[in-house]
Amino acid sequence: MKVLVINAGSSSLKYQLYDMSNEAVLAKGLVERIGIEGSLLTHRPEGKDKHVIETEMPDHKIAIQLVLDALVDPVVGVIKNVDEITAVGHRIVHGGEKYSSSVLLDDQLMEELKEVSKLAPLHNPPALIGIRACRELMPHTPMTAVFDTSFHQTMDPVAYMYAIPYELYESDKIRRYGFHGTSHKYVANRAAEMLNRNIEDMKIVTCHLGNGSSVTAVKHGKAIDTSMGFTPLAGLVMGTRTGDMDPAIVTYLMSEKGWDAKAVDNLMNKKSGVLGVSGVSSDFRDLEKAAAEGNKRAQLALDMFHYRVRKYIGSYAAAMGGIDAIVFTAGLGENSPMAREEILKGLEFLGFEVDLAKDNVRGKEVIFSSDNSRVKLMVIPTNEELMIARDTKVLVQEAKH
Ligand code: AMP
Repeated sequence: MKVLVINAGSSSLKYQLYDMSNEAVLAKGLVERIGIEGSLLTHRPEGKDKHVIETEMPDHKIAIQLVLDALVDPVVGVIKNVDEITAVGHRIVHGGEKYSSSVLLDDQLMEELKEVSKLAPLHNPPALIGIRACRELMPHTPMTAVFDTSFHQTMDPVAYMYAIPYELYESDKIRRYGFHGTSHKYVANRAAEMLNRNIEDMKIVTCHLGNGSSVTAVKHGKAIDTSMGFTPLAGLVMGTRTGDMDPAIVTYLMSEKGWDAKAVDNLMNKKSGVLGVSGVSSDFRDLEKAAAEGNKRAQLALDMFHYRVRKYIGSYAAAMGGIDAIVFTAGLGENSPMAREEILKGLEFLGFEVDLAKDNVRGKEVIFSSDNSRVKLMVIPTNEELMIARDTKVLVQEAKH
């Protein structure tokens, strides 16, 4: 079975084609600048040179057609015919409260997803445009929707409710949802596999640390709490997002400075985080370099970031009544030994010791706690696309029976 995974944004689209018989990636690629001058498709077929196509792509349908053309191309293609693609799995950021697992797409679901879009106005509409385009081009191919929020739907109300009037939860579904769920699920399961343990007996904290960052408490295989909230703005200090802060700052900015909702929203999402504090960059590589060169605000931004992650790990150990493993993933989590070591400083009382020699890895699976540590420290590169492909395979097989 071959499964195409698509992750569509407003002007970009990532794809990977899997052969599910051995979960091998046959080709992957990225379309950039859809609907903007200078559209670009970078296609990377396995075992062949990358292929770049620069041509006008005014909309997602044309972009997806070009991806399909590349996949069947006699030179850079990896399949002979589009019919070889058994199913397509689409990533969608927000599934609201209704979707606690991945689902097969049909007309009714498309309607329901429009309704959910108001909870994620920046992310869901581009994904829906991508899905619509794909369904038009491949009308007989089964498709699935895999949500970033699904994994967190196992949280109890005590973890997902906000202390605001209950009616707002009932009328507007204002609650914690959590994001990066596919990533947290993948690394938590992979951690149990690597440790040769049953995930149902384990308490794991998964740290997805990238441009957007979140931490999740995974108890017995289920998410019981997570740092992102109603939107992906909550929780950790991020590249450009505030993470947790006193909500009264919002009303202060509005009443004292005369800012409107849009301006505050822009400040909190695009101008804050480590960028806002450092004034240097939202990119952790730039910050680590600037701090090493003596930039005090870059150092402060990094210290704040590490401290916030440390506090979340500690609070999730408390929420789960203990901890067996801490997993680091995503751009920073996978690639920065310094970030991992700074975050873990002071948490040794939980029952681990960092093995600095083992921690000196980038982008590779490793257990970097010392051999006698009770709590295991791990780096696991995330693989959201593979999770989407796996869910898609299962749903399509179930639908056949
Ligand atoms: P992501 O959103 O998962 O792609 O992660 C992007 C973030 O990871 C950026 O802030 C990068 O600076 C950071 N990152 C990637 N590689 C490294 C590295 N080698 N050292 C430190 N940070 C890194």
